[in-house]
Amino acid sequence: MCAPGAIAALYTGVVMSCLFCKIVEGDIPSTPIFEDDLGYAFADINPQAPVHVLIVPREHIPSLIDTDQSRRALLGHLLWAAAEIARNKGLANGYRIVVNTGEDGGQSVDHLHLHLLGGRPMAWPPG
Ligand code: 5GP
Ligand code: ZN
Repeated sequence: MCAPGAIAALYTGVVMSCLFCKIVEGDIPSTPIFEDDLGYAFADINPQAPVHVLIVPREHIPSLIDTDQSRRALLGHLLWAAAEIARNKGLANGYRIVVNTGEDGGQSVDHLHLHLLGGRPMAWPPG
């Protein structure tokens, strides 16, 4: 069994190597869209729509797979933040929120994030 100190060190290593943790900390530059005590939103570097914003929790959570009951309020808050950003961006005609989750979900960055996509009609089904 791992000692608590070893687990803490492992966790610190994961956070220190996480791209979105570095963006949240300002160690990697990003274009800020919204921020508060729980979350940070920034422009996607490779936009798939005229509006493409990523909304992330400040805390390192790898994916939706890793959320238990204790995360309910935070998840609701992130969804609210996405809707608020959409309002501020004038997306009154609609938009799409995507949370790619895990390998099958096509998640490429292992720090929970919501994609807010808007400014053009969206197709269905997704690939
Ligand atoms: P995923 O595929 O995990 O759902 O989404 C990851 C997103 O992060 C992609 O849309 C990708 O363009 C974006 N991304 C990857 N690296 C960076 C970066 O360094 N800066 C920003 N702003 N976005 C990034
Ligand atoms: Zn992280």
